[in-house]
Formats: sequence, C-alpha cells, structure tokens
Amino acid sequence: MVANILLVEDEPAIQELLAFNVTQCGYRPIQAGDADTAMALINRALPDLILLDWMLPGTSGIELARRLRADQRTQNIPIIMLTARTDERDKVMGLESGADDYITKPFSPRELMARIRAVLRRRTPQMTDEVVKVEGVELSPVTHRVTAKGVHIDLGPTEFRLLHFFMTHVERVYSRAQLLDQVWGDHVFVEERTVDVHIRRLRQALEPFGLDSLVQTVRGSGYRFSRS
Ligand code: CA
Repeated sequence: MVANILLVEDEPAIQELLAFNVTQCGYRPIQAGDADTAMALINRALPDLILLDWMLPGTSGIELARRLRADQRTQNIPIIMLTARTDERDKVMGLESGADDYITKPFSPRELMARIRAVLRRRTPQMTDEVVKVEGVELSPVTHRVTAKGVHIDLGPTEFRLLHFFMTHVERVYSRAQLLDQVWGDHVFVEERTVDVHIRRLRQALEPFGLDSLVQTVRGSGYRFSRS
C-alpha cells in the first residue's frame, strides 16, 4: 500500500525537493502551495500524512493543523510540521497545534524520511510492512499473501486493503464513510454501498474457515473487526 503524502509548502524549490525525496522513498507526493489548496485536496481524499510548512501565505500551517485536528474526519491524519523557526517556544506551539512531529529547515532528507517512516508506523500501522496476525488470519503486506488457519486464501485488492486495515485496527467500530476514507481514500466519489459489497466478499472468503464472524456489523454504526 503506497502512502500518499500531502506536501504543503509555498516555496517551489523546497516543494520540489520534498516531492523528489518522498518519491525516492516509495511514497506518492501530493502537492499544495497554500492551505486552501491543501484543504480542497483533503476534502476529496484523505492523505496518509501531511508535511506542513509553518509559514504559508494566507492561512498559516499552525492554523491549518488546528483546523484539521478540530474536525473528526481529519483529526487522525499524521502531521509533520516544517519550519525555519528554531525557537523552543515555537516548537511547543507547533506540537500543541496538533502536529505529531516537527522538523526545522534546513533539514537533511535522510532525517526527514526517517521521521516520516516513524510517524507512519506510529499512526497508521497498516502502512508498515509487518506481518499481522489476528485469530487464525495472517496477512503479509510484502508478499500480499493472506492465510486463514494456515491455508492460502485469494482476496481482491480492495478486500486485501480492507482486511489489512481491520487487522491493524481491531475492536474499533468504523462507519462506512470512515472506511471509505481509510481504505479507499475517497469518501466523496465512492458510494457507501460499495463498502457493503466488499465486506460481503471478505466474509465469503473467510467463511470456509469459520472466521467470517470476525467481520461484525454494528447496527446503525458500521463495521468492526473483533475477536469476540
Ligand atoms: Ca513557507
């Protein structure tokens, strides 16, 4: 699963440098030169992480971070703040606005990429390459293999992503809109009914192993992946 990284930076040279490094690391860059453009892009599809420049024309990076944290839909997107400021008070302010991490310019691309990886690992476990096991199900993001009770099962790409998301977020209830955001990356142009279709396919794949009950419907709310 390729992580989409939204780069919000108004200086073209730094924007290009960020995009280059993000691409080199195997992530997909999405570029915005100001907060309004960033919001429009976020409204269409949630990025997996935002690299956010503090000093932007118009709405500042700090203000954008606060807005994202105040909205339920966007509050969990990891944010790394980029800034030329080195003052300790500024750092505290940046983190208080909701940023997960903070990096000062000029930064070394290696350090920046290490921070991106660390934040992604912490905030979005489905973005890592680690094998996950829940009950009798084992999923390997690297080989794209899924086994149920030791037997290989075939899943379509969407069912695979859905299962990976569920297995890294067990016991929590997600609405259809949240699943569209998290698994499809798009809650605007995909119908909520689509979620039900893929949930049904996922259950069908797990059913021969008696594991379909892991995918639970929570009435009026959505779905949950649960051991109980
Ligand atoms: Ca700037």
